[in-house]
Amino acid sequence: MRFLSADLIFPIETQPIPNGILVVGPQGKIIDILTENDENAPDSGKVETFKGALCPGFINAHCHLELSHMKGLVPERTGLPSFIMQIVSRRHENAEQKMEAIRLADEEMWANGIEAVGDICNTADTLESKLNSRLRYHSFVEVFSFDSSKAQAVLTEGIRVAKTYTENGLTATVVPHAPYSVSEELFDGIRQQQAKFPGTISIHNQETESENEMFRSGSGELVELFKKFGEDFSSFEPKFKSSLNYHLNQLPKQVNSILVHNTMTRREEFEEANEQNENLFWCACPNANMYIENRIPNVPMWLETQSRVCVGTDSLASNHQLSVFDELKLIQEHHQSLGVQQLVKMGTINGAKALGMENEKGSFRKGKLPGVVLLKNLDSLSTDLSQISVQRIV
Ligand SMILES: [Zn+2]
Repeated sequence: MRFLSADLIFPIETQPIPNGILVVGPQGKIIDILTENDENAPDSGKVETFKGALCPGFINAHCHLELSHMKGLVPERTGLPSFIMQIVSRRHENAEQKMEAIRLADEEMWANGIEAVGDICNTADTLESKLNSRLRYHSFVEVFSFDSSKAQAVLTEGIRVAKTYTENGLTATVVPHAPYSVSEELFDGIRQQQAKFPGTISIHNQETESENEMFRSGSGELVELFKKFGEDFSSFEPKFKSSLNYHLNQLPKQVNSILVHNTMTRREEFEEANEQNENLFWCACPNANMYIENRIPNVPMWLETQSRVCVGTDSLASNHQLSVFDELKLIQEHHQSLGVQQLVKMGTINGAKALGMENEKGSFRKGKLPGVVLLKNLDSLSTDLSQISVQRIV
């Protein structure tokens, strides 16, 4: 049993406790949370005291572990269509180097205080690392093809990959890549897979204006890119509405859906979408948005529309590190109005809820196994996060 104390404890689902004591069992299970003068408080000699704040392990709601070998390969700030082009042409590398990069990325996340990950996969490349990891993973097996005649074949391959995860005791769902890369027939097939692989869905949403342009008018940079890849757009008819207005109806409504990026989503769209589907989570990946499109998501606006906001790192192809806390720092740097408590909540319990892991992760509650992370020297709720670093304690 360990007794951990710090200037502040963030239980997350209740108010921060100054000088509280966290009682942690052998496997990292939360046994109790005590106030400073609690009658059950142990002798001070038994207490490990830290300078800063203790919070539960972070939840990375959006990652692509299998792209870890692409760190530093793609030039920054060239826009999404150019980024996709680079990924497609450079994703196949030496298998051994790929595996090693995946293993190192997993360790990096652990050291950065990340406890669980919603991880996008197109292959089973990450299976071995996930089986040996201290992190908990949910694998989003991503499928894409805008050519409706390929829907069945693409789905069959997605099901095969998803099975390799579930047959090894990991959770997985079959998910659409993005509205611009999935035909309506493929969306139908994805919804039907909920019967076999139930759980949270994820989709990239409105990361670039050319995505909206495609659905409004049937033209633009993305359409041109996919024509270059040989996709047949001759039967595609513009929907005369935004990308989100189009694809929201294609998602299953009975399970959580994580919409990732949302940098081009307008306020009315947040409001309407939350009204139409009460299981939406909105995932911010600010470092990746800066890397690819030189843009920052307007998180305060998302919150004003009562949206549930979680945080993701995206992959090392579009980020210099995999750290949820670094994402929170960047959000605060651009949006000073957001408080520490609000930010930490986005990085913990909101992500856990999005991934359906809230009974185990994301907050200090008796019986949970959320991990314990020290935010070094964070001793007040108005602290500037840029000066704070993370250390894993449990
Ligand atoms: Zn992504």
